[in-house]
Amino acid sequence: MRTQGAMRIHTAPGISAGNRNTAVRWIKRCLREITRKHYELPVDYATAGADIMIKLKLAGQRSSACAKGVNIDLAPYDAGNTQILEYPAFAKDPVIGSRHCQHPEMVLAATIAHEVSHFIQYRYGPQTRWLKQKYRKPHGEGFQDIYRILRSRVVNPEIRGATPDRSRTQA
Ligand SMILES: [Zn+2]
Repeated sequence: MRTQGAMRIHTAPGISAGNRNTAVRWIKRCLREITRKHYELPVDYATAGADIMIKLKLAGQRSSACAKGVNIDLAPYDAGNTQILEYPAFAKDPVIGSRHCQHPEMVLAATIAHEVSHFIQYRYGPQTRWLKQKYRKPHGEGFQDIYRILRSRVVNPEIRGATPDRSRTQA
């Protein structure tokens, strides 16, 4: 088990240092955003970073998360997947839904934002004013509220910057 600062990161064999660093960078960006003071989580960035257990795997399995941390499968990123595929209930949502990206890194970023949102909901939902009534359902309202913050503030702006369709409509 290797660690980076206070973060606990387990990296499966076969994952390159570059891919590992890319994944960790997006996890940090998500934690940095959601722990900003005005979101009223009961922890700051350093505490959330020390709380989250990060497992990076290369197994072709689903990524997952729980109150202890996130389990991110880098196989789709390694394979060059460019399609964010979201949970059916909000797949058509313009902010948190499925979409095509030019760059596989943005699909990885969305996967990480999704799983970090699960970690936040289960770990801090019970102690967070705006989450405590609605954090329990796995892909329910509380989860979607967190994920909406991370997609709109951290992930989507960078997808837009790289999407030719968008730049055409803005021209
Ligand atoms: Zn999920």
